[in-house]
Amino acid sequence: MIRIQHFIDGAFVEPHSGTYFDDVDPAQGKPYAEVPDGDADDVERAVASAKAAFPAWSQTSAAERSRLLLAIADGIEREIDELSRIESIDNGKPITLARSSDLPRAVANFRFFATAILHAHSELHVADRGGLNYTLRRPLGVVACISPWNLPLYLLTWKIAPALATGNTVVAKPSEITPMTAFHLSRIVEAAGLPPGVLNVVHGFGPKVGPPLTGHPDVRAVSFTGGTATGGLIAAEVAPKFKKLSLELGGKNPNVVFADADMDETIKTSLRSSFQNQGQICLCGSRILVEKSAYPAFVERFVAAAQTLRQGDPLDPATEQGAIVSKPHFDKVMSYIALAKKEGGTVLCGGSPPGSVNDRCKDGFFISPTVIVDLPMSCRTNQEEIFGPVVTITPFATEDEAISLANGTTYGLSASVWTQNLARAHRVADRIEAGTVWINCWMVRDLRVPFGGVKGSGVGREGGEDSLRFFTEPKNVCVKT
Ligand code: NDP
Repeated sequence: MIRIQHFIDGAFVEPHSGTYFDDVDPAQGKPYAEVPDGDADDVERAVASAKAAFPAWSQTSAAERSRLLLAIADGIEREIDELSRIESIDNGKPITLARSSDLPRAVANFRFFATAILHAHSELHVADRGGLNYTLRRPLGVVACISPWNLPLYLLTWKIAPALATGNTVVAKPSEITPMTAFHLSRIVEAAGLPPGVLNVVHGFGPKVGPPLTGHPDVRAVSFTGGTATGGLIAAEVAPKFKKLSLELGGKNPNVVFADADMDETIKTSLRSSFQNQGQICLCGSRILVEKSAYPAFVERFVAAAQTLRQGDPLDPATEQGAIVSKPHFDKVMSYIALAKKEGGTVLCGGSPPGSVNDRCKDGFFISPTVIVDLPMSCRTNQEEIFGPVVTITPFATEDEAISLANGTTYGLSASVWTQNLARAHRVADRIEAGTVWINCWMVRDLRVPFGGVKGSGVGREGGEDSLRFFTEPKNVCVKT
């Protein structure tokens, strides 16, 4: 069995506890690797190493930091096929998705921030009389980067890359459910020549490794992506200590379809926004709202299309729907399907595991794409994040009603709006409570734009300038003139 290690102070080290837990391949439903059971002692070592590395790293020129981050990007790219396979095994996602989305994005994250720092500029404010102000932006020190299991390397590198680029040192904690590509990243980082202690990766269970890390007095900022409940715990820990905090949290995103939309394109993209990565993307549109006149035809076509998605072995390049990430998550998603039925929902397709996808995956955690109708917006199925291949479809009568349904949850991460009416598209985009609104598209990402959520979907923005600002502290210097 493969056994991975923490990466602390430039070396691969055993956990202080000496114990390991199983990493389960969700497509086969059985353990295939062992993960260090990290604890507060491991965190202490990692933070101490990051703290010791900070003075030299923060003084390293932008050109040299850029060179090293570009070398890491190249290192990931050289191994992209193998890393895609590793991500697919660890997470259950289709290998084709890992190869076309997760891994290229991890490369892009490093390249984007490695080059962004070469173009950094700062502000100058000249007073009418008597003063000239300029802003220094300095790295914070040791920062914690905590990421979830759904897009393991994609989201971890989204944090690590800007943190390192701006001169911070990092202690990263990947999800214990999908730690494998973070381990391989450590190897690539070492080979690229990043100085010891600049990046440390501590594995382990969130409740055991998380609090000692986020609460550590030498950790100056926490960048977290994960569930809203965990985000609340971290905020409670971090706020009284006045650390910088960025929280990218859950969503219950609306996908609003007006009758005048291009229905071929809407259905094709809505299929992706509902079920890509088995619906385990924070940006998935799990509530489809359809204008009444188009509702019957939309439901019929959408359900027919959902039934054509190729569910199968994640390692088969033809597979479109892979496995659910873990048995506990499989049980959670299934419990929501049972709840939806109890709440009066009609399951039009899916709702259960498929027949065995193949012999290798006979014990894996698979759920067929599930479409549910006949539920009020107020019910739990429509209010709580399920984070699986489950969507509801709800009709609306007017633009106002569409907006009120779209905004009618505690979340506000993203939304899609489908219409040919340009004025309406802008109007609705303006009124929807979300960090991102896509018009006639979904998941079109530009790394320069602000990314984050409102309401229960988080606090703060990352991406482009926002990431560079989050990972630095501005200092105003005023010179008498
Ligand atoms: P969790 O909140 O359970 O975990 C996220 C990370 O936090 C994991 O590394 C976890 O470790 C760790 N963690 C758990 N408890 C603590 C703690 N007390 N202190 C510090 N860290 C802790 O989320 P999931 O991994 O289940 O991911 C799914 C969630 O992430 C969904 O809600 C999804 O919407 C959200 N998400 C949000 C995105 C966004 O950009 N807004 C993007 C992607 C996902 P461990 O796994 O070991 O428990």
